[in-house]
Amino acid sequence: MADPEPGFAVCVYCASSDGIAPRYLELADAVGREIAGRGWTLVSGGGRRSMMGALAAGAREAGGRTVGIIPRSMVEREWADHDSDELMVTDSMRERKQHMEDRADAFLALPGGLGTCEELFEVWSGGALGLHGKPVVLLDPDGHWDGLLDWVGGLTGRGFASRTPMERLRVVRDGADPVATALDACARPVG
Ligand code: AMP
Repeated sequence: MADPEPGFAVCVYCASSDGIAPRYLELADAVGREIAGRGWTLVSGGGRRSMMGALAAGAREAGGRTVGIIPRSMVEREWADHDSDELMVTDSMRERKQHMEDRADAFLALPGGLGTCEELFEVWSGGALGLHGKPVVLLDPDGHWDGLLDWVGGLTGRGFASRTPMERLRVVRDGADPVATALDACARPVG
């Protein structure tokens, strides 16, 4: 597999709430570091709370470039990441998501809540519809998303999808090095 071009950018979606188990922050930190280690750019929601903050801080500590994109209304709620190499403040959530999508060469979702779920579904369904050709990867080491994946997996059998949407999502669970495996999956072009 050819290495991606310099400047390859991965948009990572993940939790922004406090109170989650420390292992999720460790996961986000490891993903940020791995992105930086590959010389790639991190595109994120531009918050400094929770996993989103750990992700961007990890990437920068490892020498990576971070781009944060946050709606004006969330600058305080998510504590805007003013240490970002580039911090874009948008007028709306829709604009934020569009810029995040445009700036990325691949999408990676980690454990998260409703916001992460919504972001994942937007790029996943867009990919399944052929609206973009970028890889969409889900890194789920502890089964956080299992219930949702089971439900989507059942859509085809019940006639709600002609081809299984699971074909368009690369799911990485555990294994020797799930973070590296997930980022390898981000770099592999959609066939
Ligand atoms: P969560 O997974 O709920 O912690 O949210 C993760 C990120 O998704 C946060 O930065 C939210 O601002 C963002 N997000 C994106 N779209 C939405 C939406 N429609 N509703 C709530 N949060 C959203």
